[in-house]
Amino acid sequence: MSKPYVSVVIPVYNEAENLEALFMRLTAVLDRVGKPYEIVFTNDGSRDNSLPLLRDFHRRRPHQVRVIDFNGNFGQHMAIMAAFERVRGDVVVTLDADLQNPPEEIPKLLTAIEAGHDVVGSYRRNRQDTLFRRYASRVINAVRERFTNIRMRDQGCMLRAYRRLIVEQIIASGETSTFIPALAMSYAAHPTEVEVEHAARTAGTSKYRLYDLVRLNFDLMTGFSVVPLQLFTLFGMVVAAGSLAFVVYLFVRRLIVGPEAEGLFTLFAILYLLVGIGIFGLGVIGEYVGRIYQEVRKRPRFVIREVIEQPNLSKAAGNE
Ligand code: UDP
Ligand code: MG
Repeated sequence: MSKPYVSVVIPVYNEAENLEALFMRLTAVLDRVGKPYEIVFTNDGSRDNSLPLLRDFHRRRPHQVRVIDFNGNFGQHMAIMAAFERVRGDVVVTLDADLQNPPEEIPKLLTAIEAGHDVVGSYRRNRQDTLFRRYASRVINAVRERFTNIRMRDQGCMLRAYRRLIVEQIIASGETSTFIPALAMSYAAHPTEVEVEHAARTAGTSKYRLYDLVRLNFDLMTGFSVVPLQLFTLFGMVVAAGSLAFVVYLFVRRLIVGPEAEGLFTLFAILYLLVGIGIFGLGVIGEYVGRIYQEVRKRPRFVIREVIEQPNLSKAAGNE
């Protein structure tokens, strides 16, 4: 059996209704490309019928399908990370399992890789998600563009291709909570982006609730930028300077006009505003401290229960 040229990595969390259609469309596309390939699924603690289906895919194409079964839900990015540690292809493609990213777009990514790019990102034409998600993404993309030096048009689009070297650097970074497209961009020497189609979910529901999205973006901001911390330093300096000017003004005023006693509630309003901002600042520091804590604790990022693949594959991969 030859070494694969492309490895397609797919995180799976309760996607039973989508898997058969995904598998048929994906293998059809990859067969047409005509180069050796492998598909690495990570079952991220699904509680539905996903795992038996993945086992069946392995049975049907034992040389092309590998399944990593997590011992719980560790999140999409860790699911991809675990697969990255095992992929054998020269080119690695990530894809969602829900068919929102059409597998038919993969050849377009491969063409861009063959043109010499090391990271091929994508942005979604006619994104088919709720109005709220689309709007929130616009805001988040804009914030990320300002605060980090990661340049991406559509950070949420996971249909991406990487050269092996980039994947190796991502693994070597060993971070606990990270955002893979951003990590890849920080190592990219010659990235590009292509436009891809996007479909509405036909089965199952989005695995990201509002809270998960907020958490993910905290990871992204704190993982790739210290600007939020610096903003607080700047703000503190501005407030301190303003307060000093105010004190001088009140002192002079007292000498000329006499003491002033009114404006009690104005004072409260200003005070509460500053206290609120102060607490927010503590929270921001907490985000960074929490991340540092997570990293130094060095708990395993994910736990693999079983790897379903042809024997001897892992050893072979380790030597490459
Ligand atoms: N996913 C995962 N673990 C999770 C959440 C999601 O492996 O904890 C997978 C999910 O099965 C899908 C992909 O990540 O293949 C993207 O998830 P989803 O489609 O729910 O996200 P959305 O498209 O709403 O951003
Ligand atoms: Mg989706």
